[in-house]
Amino acid sequence: MTLLEKNFVGGRWKGGSEELDIRNPSNLDESAGRYGLATVADVEEAFAAARKAHPAWRGATLEQRSIVLENIAQGIFARKDELAQIMSLEGGKTIPDALGEIVRAGNIARFFAGEALRMTGEKIGSVRPGVDVEITREPVGVVGLITPWNFPIAVSLWKISPALAFGNAIVWKPSEKTPGISAAIAEIVAAAGVPEGVFNMVLGNGPDIGSAVVENADAISFTGSAATGKRIAVRCAERLVRVQLEMGGKNPLVVLDDANLDLAADLAVNGAYFQAGQRCTASSRLIVTSGIHDRFVAAVAERVKKLKIGNASDSATQIGPVIDESQFNKVQSYVELGRSEKAELLAGGDAIKLATRGWYVSPVLFANTANNLRINQEEVFGPFASVIRVADYDEALAVANDTEYGLSAGIVTTSMKYAKDFQANVQAGMTMLNLPTAGVDYHVPFGGRKGSSYGPREQGRYAVEFYTIVKTSYLSV
Ligand code: NAD
Repeated sequence: MTLLEKNFVGGRWKGGSEELDIRNPSNLDESAGRYGLATVADVEEAFAAARKAHPAWRGATLEQRSIVLENIAQGIFARKDELAQIMSLEGGKTIPDALGEIVRAGNIARFFAGEALRMTGEKIGSVRPGVDVEITREPVGVVGLITPWNFPIAVSLWKISPALAFGNAIVWKPSEKTPGISAAIAEIVAAAGVPEGVFNMVLGNGPDIGSAVVENADAISFTGSAATGKRIAVRCAERLVRVQLEMGGKNPLVVLDDANLDLAADLAVNGAYFQAGQRCTASSRLIVTSGIHDRFVAAVAERVKKLKIGNASDSATQIGPVIDESQFNKVQSYVELGRSEKAELLAGGDAIKLATRGWYVSPVLFANTANNLRINQEEVFGPFASVIRVADYDEALAVANDTEYGLSAGIVTTSMKYAKDFQANVQAGMTMLNLPTAGVDYHVPFGGRKGSSYGPREQGRYAVEFYTIVKTSYLSV
């Protein structure tokens, strides 16, 4: 298979010094492409191009920027079936999961085509006579975007779109695990009318290429693991550049005695296992009150055992493989840890042998677990959930909050009193009532609290906070 030269620097496609060989996680005997990785010199060239191109883009009319965003949206919609095949081949996503994410990404770009036209400011009175005060927003400059593999198009578009809409230039470093979809996104952005140099994409690993982006950018928006995020925040603080981090989760789904049992079990299975559990908003802690506990555990275990695990390209598959060997080993190591912590393994945990060799894991369900076990405190990021029995709502809320993370939190109940109390008091950026913890709208803020997020919110009209900088002007006329 030929080496794909897919770094996009200064308006040109470039190769790289090293080579990345991607395998199909559903069939390890099949290649998902060979890519040339960027060098640190390529990253520096990308920043130089972005700095040169930025003044014109900063000065572009709102309509010019809006049209580019609309073109990106249409480019995504037009190629959606092909993009879904790429995401399935290199990331192990089922086609329906991939299509859902692709359409969401297109909708995000479309939303920001509108936002580009709504750059507002304020004109307010001064405390001094004869003086006017104007508050305006300006682009930050050349922003560095660093993204993960699990939502390779949606997360990327929820950074690229507002960055462009509000007049910034971009150097984007996607995850090295999903180069194919990243290259396709770069093709779509390049064809959308973005001036040369305004948008750059460099493929490469985190420590070298990611770090080079962090060293050169005027602002960093990062989505990925908490460990990497913290390191980046420290460096951004040293450089005094703004930083936005979206990181992991250990999301609770609380099930109360008065819940609809079938709904609760369906939400748990959807939230914990779909997309092989590789979602930052996955429901990994199922916190259940005593009166419904045994019936709930039986209903979830029954559903889990029926899940169809298989090749991501097979239309009957509900759960595809995890993305690669490191994720596979991570899930296995947490199954061993759960056993050693004396949790009761009700389902899953085995490697599965199918017609093709792949990173297949049967969905894991632990019961009789305490919240302070490591399996309930550390993000596994795989098809893995545990049940924690609690006496009542008050204990459920305390357990839900007893975590370093705070991304998404769900409750299943028919009680308005508990639903309202949970919404008010759970320490999470997003709360869900009788809905899965994963699955959000594209036009409203996305983000968490505590160890899950740092800095201003992403998505929706709140995205303007990160991608613009405020200027206060005093005028005496
Ligand atoms: P990761 O932290 O390993 O990598 C994320 C990105 O950072 C990749 O592009 C990687 O190459 C880069 N990177 C790694 N080390 C770096 C360094 N030293 N300097 C600069 N860049 C570096 O995370 P991942 O495994 O790709 O993604 C999974 C994680 O992402 C999970 O923890 C998940 O919860 C989180 N996630 C969070 C959200 C959210 O919005 N909160 C969304 C999706 C995924």
